[in-house]
Amino acid sequence: MEFPGFQYTPRALDLGIFKEVVSICPVCRQQRAYIYVGPFYAEEEVEGICPWCIKDGSAAKKYDGTFQDGVSCEPVDDIKKLEELITRAPGYSAWQQERWLSHCGDFCALEAYVGWEELLPWTHELSADLLDIRTRYGMTEADLEKSLVKGSGMQGYLFRCLHCGRHRLTVNTDQGEVPAQSFGPFSSLQVRARSSLWAFHCDRSRTGFFSSV
Ligand SMILES: [Zn+2]
Ligand SMILES: [Zn+2]
Repeated sequence: MEFPGFQYTPRALDLGIFKEVVSICPVCRQQRAYIYVGPFYAEEEVEGICPWCIKDGSAAKKYDGTFQDGVSCEPVDDIKKLEELITRAPGYSAWQQERWLSHCGDFCALEAYVGWEELLPWTHELSADLLDIRTRYGMTEADLEKSLVKGSGMQGYLFRCLHCGRHRLTVNTDQGEVPAQSFGPFSSLQVRARSSLWAFHCDRSRTGFFSSV
């Protein structure tokens, strides 16, 4: 069975959001070759969801969950796009609150985990995002160049507009503090979900997952 396509996360496999593990999916009860290892915000702890049950919305429906926190997504012109992103698309995990960027009225596709070096071809396109990041983290351009390293404690997430192709960037850090602007109204449930994600993230960094992407 061919791996399903996700418009907002087209490189989900390369980015380590799924792992190749033969397992029984808790939703469709079928034996599948991939499991989802990204974030899932639901009352129940759920593991081993297959990509097909994300794609058709059955996993989100069964557990009344979402794969991305809707409050930390940038605005789009149609609520159906938000629904698609949070209930039928694999999310990505980071140390602090993940943000999903938008452009041209739609969500962008997550393309890559990046550091300054990988961003060089697009720094002009990304100037507004870079300025915003520097302001939020109180960094000079030199600080950012030095600190933003793929696989390190400050990593970039490169997005690309599905309509005009423009790149956008957000960053995430392993520091305990999150700039006030990026905080959404967390529920206690989300905080619990995040602590298990934190454990996952640490584990993934140790195994060098990031550096293999
Ligand atoms: Zn399934
Ligand atoms: Zn655009």
